[in-house]
Amino acid sequence: MKYVDEYRGQDFVHSLTKKIHSISDRTLRIMEVCGTHTMSIFKHGLRRMLPEQIKLISGPGCPVCVTPAGVIDAFVELANRPEVIIATFGDMIRVPGTGHSLMQTRAAGAEIHIVYSPMDALELAAQQPDKLVVFLSVGFETTTPTIAATILEAATRQMDNFCIFPANKIMPPPLKALMQDPNLQVDALLCPGHVSIISGSESYRFLVEDYGISCVVAGFEPTDILLSILALVRQVQEERPDVENCYGRVVTAEGNIKARKIVETVFTPVDSEWRGLGSIKDSGLTLQDKYSRFDITRRLDIDIQPSCEPKGCRCGDILKGISQPQECPLFGKGCTPTVPIGPCMVSSEGTCAAWYRYGTLI
Ligand code: SF4
Repeated sequence: MKYVDEYRGQDFVHSLTKKIHSISDRTLRIMEVCGTHTMSIFKHGLRRMLPEQIKLISGPGCPVCVTPAGVIDAFVELANRPEVIIATFGDMIRVPGTGHSLMQTRAAGAEIHIVYSPMDALELAAQQPDKLVVFLSVGFETTTPTIAATILEAATRQMDNFCIFPANKIMPPPLKALMQDPNLQVDALLCPGHVSIISGSESYRFLVEDYGISCVVAGFEPTDILLSILALVRQVQEERPDVENCYGRVVTAEGNIKARKIVETVFTPVDSEWRGLGSIKDSGLTLQDKYSRFDITRRLDIDIQPSCEPKGCRCGDILKGISQPQECPLFGKGCTPTVPIGPCMVSSEGTCAAWYRYGTLI
């Protein structure tokens, strides 16, 4: 197939759902850990096309959502310093901390720019030599290589007014933590397509070997997702857990080795706190000592307080996959995309936002 319409073709969708219905005869709990999958599943109404016994569970797939409130408070505190300009991706700006969001802080006078790439933040620093530009470095494996490349560029250009706030996360450690959680029973994993472009499909092999979890790397169009669910159903029916790659047009077994090398040159793993999941060993990234001058948390005294959820918000349980948005008493009442209380309602990849926008299609 060549064009996006073909990946959304009704006939192909129907033939895939028919096959899934014809072979599925047992309960199957499939977790997706990518916010783009969550949105696509909801937007295309895929849940209602599946047999009742197939349950789709949304996990911690949105990098903005898993960033703890204490870190967002630290972003806000930094933004209030007169010598600092904050550069950030757009989703982060509306996420409330325990007090204000970055958007409210900008409205009160702080200089906060939305950028589309960390390189844009570096250029901003070049244009504003009297200010310290801080890029809020949030994201999974997909975004980290460009951030690492930006740090290398900053080092080459000897920029001393550019830093990042390192809050990047990596996917395998939380997957391990989730599989060990007795409250969460997952049989199969719809592995994230974007992350897998960098990490490779074989990075999930440990889930098969250590936990007997069936894994399929999936693309983002309806037929990509249904084809991947069909592959998972087959694996479970035949009791042969494996890693399969159903997104072969962009994902390889070994991933993007060159991109990972750049990341390893610049970053090193560190224990990191995830909203809802707590602190997970080696699940975050910090800069190598050689590049520590570009780490704002080592350059300035920044206080990161232990996090607490906004009152009544169930984002923590939703990110763990043990609650659904409509179980939150604030869903659609106190908390809407216009007036969000938790990050899962803010982000374009958030589970609560997906339920709010497309709940009638479920
Ligand atoms: S509906 Fe709002 S308050 Fe409730 S869990 Fe979702 S983001 Fe949090």
